[in-house]
Amino acid sequence: MKLAKRMSQLKASEIREILKITERPEVISFAGGLPAPELFPIEEIKHINNLVLDEEGDKALQYTTTEGYQPLRNWIANRMNLRLGTKFDEDNILITHGSQQALDLAGKVFIDEDDIVVCECPTYLAAISAFKMFGAKFLEIPCDDDGMDMNALEEALKTNDRIKCMYVIPDFQNPTGRTWSLERRKKIAALSNQYQIPIIEDNPYGELRFEGEFLPSIASFDKEGYCMCTGTFSKTYCPGYRIGWIAAPKEITRQFVLVKQGSDLQCNTMSQIAIAKYLEHYDYDKHISKIRKVYLNRRNLAVETMEQYFPKSVVFTRPQGGLFAWVELPEHCNARDILVKSLEQNIAFVPGGSFFPNGGHENTFRINFSNMDEERIVDGLQRLGKILKENI
Ligand code: PMP
Repeated sequence: MKLAKRMSQLKASEIREILKITERPEVISFAGGLPAPELFPIEEIKHINNLVLDEEGDKALQYTTTEGYQPLRNWIANRMNLRLGTKFDEDNILITHGSQQALDLAGKVFIDEDDIVVCECPTYLAAISAFKMFGAKFLEIPCDDDGMDMNALEEALKTNDRIKCMYVIPDFQNPTGRTWSLERRKKIAALSNQYQIPIIEDNPYGELRFEGEFLPSIASFDKEGYCMCTGTFSKTYCPGYRIGWIAAPKEITRQFVLVKQGSDLQCNTMSQIAIAKYLEHYDYDKHISKIRKVYLNRRNLAVETMEQYFPKSVVFTRPQGGLFAWVELPEHCNARDILVKSLEQNIAFVPGGSFFPNGGHENTFRINFSNMDEERIVDGLQRLGKILKENI
């Protein structure tokens, strides 16, 4: 059977393949990006679902607008303005099926075959897949602990006229856990305005800061309408509802609405109303602060265990929020070989090579610290430390 040409560019996600192995209960998995399931507000959700069906069942089970449930869009705009310093209202917001759908829609709106997407080095694996569907090529810009190298970015924007958009994750990045400084946020917004290149700022983890000050989003420094920003309830409420959003200048939001109509008409009405009602009836901030405390403790344990048990030649990040830390082995090492050894001992992680769209960097890997209890984190990283000492 002849498939579309674009299918030849796609391969099964390495994470999905590793996740199949990690479903075995004996496996200690640092591989996925899953939130802690014991923190899902199940009792509250039961109450809210009944409430929605009792009070607004006819609306909740009906079609709704592509833009999404108005009170939810309104809440999101206010929350972003408060947390991120933006100036959005509900007409800037489109509700999407997770923030992942926002990336797919961005691909449809912005990317033609062979257009270049500027991204961090490394970047989010499933954004690479989403943009590749539209024939994107990637220009990876080097990064350090303060974010992307702005000189390298400016040079690229000055010299490469095939650059179509920029994709960045400034808060607790997936996969590195790094966070951009305030200065670099301002600078990239200014560069996007100057060179008229849109920025897709992906922000699924911003609410999960457990150390330091909240920083404004890149979109808050946008003067000319080139910056858009995604968000999601996946990490602060539950991913199963698949409710996220994209906030963009209104004329761009209208384009996103048009392409979403062709994709799925709208997001699940019941989930949208249920989340809006949860936000009305329960203390969301209290819920998030509970998540932050648990993740901070897990981050501390993960970092302390790596410090104590990993060989001294191995370096890793100490994220101030989010779900991930990033590990770099000496250059001659290959994390895929280490993964084979550690899977023999039922320990899983994701080799870092897949997070670099143009390949290389096989000496790196990603550690998730949100999903497992404290005892398994310590046990797993102690054993991984031993494997590293024996194999690098
Ligand atoms: N962007 C980034 C950087 C992510 O890490 C994720 C989740 N792994 C997503 C987007 C998609 O999340 P969701 O669709 O659940 O909102």
